[in-house]
Amino acid sequence: MEECKYYIISNNLSGSGREYRTVIRILKMFKKSDIPYKAYMTKYKGHARFLAGKITKDIAPDREIHIIVLGGDGTVNEVLNGIVDLSKVILSVYPTGSGNDFIRGLRIKRTPEEFFEAVTGEKEPFSIDLGKIYFADGTSHLFGISTGIGMDALVCRKAGNSLLKPILNKLNAGKLTYILLTIETLFTMRYVQCDIAYTLLSESGEVTYQKLHLDRMIYMAVLNAYAEGGGVKMAPGAKMNDNLFNICGAHGMTRIRGFMTLPSLARGNHKGKRGIHTDETYSFTLKTSSPMVVHTDGEDMGERDYMHVECLFDAIRMV
Ligand SMILES: [Mg+2]
Repeated sequence: MEECKYYIISNNLSGSGREYRTVIRILKMFKKSDIPYKAYMTKYKGHARFLAGKITKDIAPDREIHIIVLGGDGTVNEVLNGIVDLSKVILSVYPTGSGNDFIRGLRIKRTPEEFFEAVTGEKEPFSIDLGKIYFADGTSHLFGISTGIGMDALVCRKAGNSLLKPILNKLNAGKLTYILLTIETLFTMRYVQCDIAYTLLSESGEVTYQKLHLDRMIYMAVLNAYAEGGGVKMAPGAKMNDNLFNICGAHGMTRIRGFMTLPSLARGNHKGKRGIHTDETYSFTLKTSSPMVVHTDGEDMGERDYMHVECLFDAIRMV
């Protein structure tokens, strides 16, 4: 028997199940072909991470395999964190969630049929960077899209808890949830003092450090992809394969001014605006005067007052 190469992890509930038919369509294409594959369906939060761990540790520990994710950004994040050795895996993702910023970040758009052709064909894989965040308690976590502290993380937390989200998703209005929650959060959240330090690489290749104190920090995001929160273009020019993160944060403004800045953030033309800090780096550290909520790829990481983020160059291959 031919050795199995394709391992499919699907989350039929991502995006509130809107893309259920798409998942079934792709699974049927595999079924009809004579390609050896194994398909797993996630049944609870954390299951995709468990499955990715089991596949790469127990089922196929010593060979190169192709993991196909049919799910949302949360599922992708779980799979990245579950894989034991990233160098032995080729990853493909068909987005079926409500945000889909991971695939958006790669600027790829495919029909299920085109996806199947690309994944099972002889395409050369390409590498992308991943991020690793370290906390003061010694724990760490991988991310593909972004990590953030403050307003964007608070909005993620509220959206995850919101009773409205499944309903709005069904009406295709997931974006509206984020807009309303962002405005509400901006006016109710606590602003903090914050110190950041990050590496800068000059044209000549010299490494220097940028250190800044930010008063009344609203949020600070470190991005691998160009958008987070379901298409909010925090870093319009960001590439996932340039060995650099884009940072974007807001600080030192009144709540009203923050509110006035939101439209330009949504449109992605916020660069250079007063109170908006943007830059590029591959190593970033942040300390706040009191703990604030942190997210990685939209997943709640709890309240933190310290984080260090490293760019893992060309960390995983994708098709
Ligand atoms: Mg980049």
